[in-house]
Amino acid sequence: MNIFSEVKEHLTARQAAEYYGLKVRRNGTACCPFHDDKHPSMKIDKNYHCFACGVGGDVIDYVSRMFGLSQYDAAFKLIGDFSLPIEVKGKTELNAQEKERIRRKKAEQERITRIKERFEKWCNEAVDILRDSLSEIKSVSDFLIGKPPDIIFSEDYAQILHAEPLINYWLDILCMGEVSERQELFLKDRKKVEEIAGKVCAGGKRIMGCSRGSA
Ligand SMILES: [Zn+2]
Repeated sequence: MNIFSEVKEHLTARQAAEYYGLKVRRNGTACCPFHDDKHPSMKIDKNYHCFACGVGGDVIDYVSRMFGLSQYDAAFKLIGDFSLPIEVKGKTELNAQEKERIRRKKAEQERITRIKERFEKWCNEAVDILRDSLSEIKSVSDFLIGKPPDIIFSEDYAQILHAEPLINYWLDILCMGEVSERQELFLKDRKKVEEIAGKVCAGGKRIMGCSRGSA
């Protein structure tokens, strides 16, 4: 015998309904709690049926409908609320296991969504900072026209020139590459992209700043 038939052995829909607050008349009719019922449209005994809105079923169905529970949770609630002598240990463990499985799956899906969102966000930000770096490089190159060799041969400018093809390469991947290429960049070279862009920006500022100061 399963848990549902065991619960039904012990309880009628009427017993449960009354326990959860339904006023049942002596003739076994009641105002239906599942629709706005002014006159008693529900017949309730072992099972219940509403002649106005058409709902009906057994004790488990009643509780499941009343509290918005699954059939299993409704049966379990009845066992608990009425202290029914029904062995549910195996079933509750299974249910707890199932709940844990669902919880883990949900957490994992959320984690994957977060990573995907972080990836997309990073790609957009990386395009921005790499574009900024390119325009910084252009500003520096323009700025250096006619400047003395010690600035042109500075370590900062050497680094900037070294960075330019790399930045273009990364921008190609980010703007036109396959998702797998962008993912690889995100996984392997995320820090490097940020570091190079930062160096270009700082180097450019130093070159233009110090020369501006001495000019
Ligand atoms: Zn009804």
